[in-house]
Amino acid sequence: MTTAPETARNLGSAAAALLVNPHVAALPPYNAGMSLARARALSGHDDLARLASNENPDGCSPAVLAALAGGGFEPWRYADPACTALREALAKRLGVDAGVIVVGNGSEEMIAAISRGVLVAGTQVVTVVPSFGLHEIEPLAAGATVVKVPMTPAAGFDLVALEAAIAAGPRVVFLSSPWNPVGPALDLAALRRLIAAVRPGTLFVLDEAYFEYADADAPDGIEALRSSGIAYVVLRTFSKAYGLAGLRVGYAVCSDPEIARVIASAKTPFNVNGAAQLAAVAALEDDAWMKASVARIRSERDRVALALAAMGLNAARSQTNFLFFDTGRDSSTVAAALLQDGIIVKPWREAGYTKWLRATIGKPADNDRLIASLQKQVAG
Ligand SMILES: *Cc1c(COP(=O)(O)O)cnc(C)c1O
Repeated sequence: MTTAPETARNLGSAAAALLVNPHVAALPPYNAGMSLARARALSGHDDLARLASNENPDGCSPAVLAALAGGGFEPWRYADPACTALREALAKRLGVDAGVIVVGNGSEEMIAAISRGVLVAGTQVVTVVPSFGLHEIEPLAAGATVVKVPMTPAAGFDLVALEAAIAAGPRVVFLSSPWNPVGPALDLAALRRLIAAVRPGTLFVLDEAYFEYADADAPDGIEALRSSGIAYVVLRTFSKAYGLAGLRVGYAVCSDPEIARVIASAKTPFNVNGAAQLAAVAALEDDAWMKASVARIRSERDRVALALAAMGLNAARSQTNFLFFDTGRDSSTVAAALLQDGIIVKPWREAGYTKWLRATIGKPADNDRLIASLQKQVAG
């Protein structure tokens, strides 16, 4: 009979003997932030202000909840693997052919599918730093090397450096605009400059997760790229402005059906569950709810930015539902003090940016708590 310790030893040697994908084994962890349970235990607060994950504090459209409660949701059925109804609704809304749209289990799955479908070991990817973690992690998992172009001292896109890095001909460019975690969006002239730098053989991925929060004069990536002649993918999501983060729906709009086919082949077949498909269609039909929520959050964002500036904390210009600012010290110290007041934020951990902190805009009362807690720290 095998004793417990011997079992452990056997497992240990089994793991040691197993060959794993070295690219995956070497991955840095995705910084998903602190669990709610741990934050409650550490802070002693039950009523946490959850300002770490860029979720929508307004919730989601009541039309979504009605659709989920209606008779259309059949949990015992496999959902449509092609997301036909949602793709057709999106195609109509965006003025593109449904054949260039691929729906994902969150747009994060589309980042993974692009990486799996397009990258192989030894290829190169260009992105920015500070970066959205998955724009680096998924390419690394495919064995690619990642070149990260730093933001300018004024917390903007370094267009000259980006142009040069893009013109060097990487296999894929991943850029979010509006930019998570920093906040600004590329204006039309800047986007056109970067598009003009793209060489044949490069796939330009524009991640517009915060598109709905951008200023009225910010470019629509799908419009700007439509006639560019380059290979591209625009990513959008229902997780942020539409408030469906927990259901997981995002999508890719591709330059042509061939790229869409490769991305669709690289995803899992039944990737988007039935509840998510129903909910996304209902959310899309209730644009008025989304627009009202965006207006509330933009106005709160500007109020919080002014309050921060009054404390000498100057946030980067934001076209999103969050603010990114230099705390002047290790931001994990600031985040720990905020947690004591029941507020969860994201202290940035990438090298060179560990004094920066990202705070999501929440409900007015949550934002008031953030401001008050920071004021205490600045005074203390
Ligand atoms: C939140 C976010 C996403 C992921 O969204 P999901 O659709 O929830 O997977 C993708 N890209 C950026 C830049 C984001 O901030």
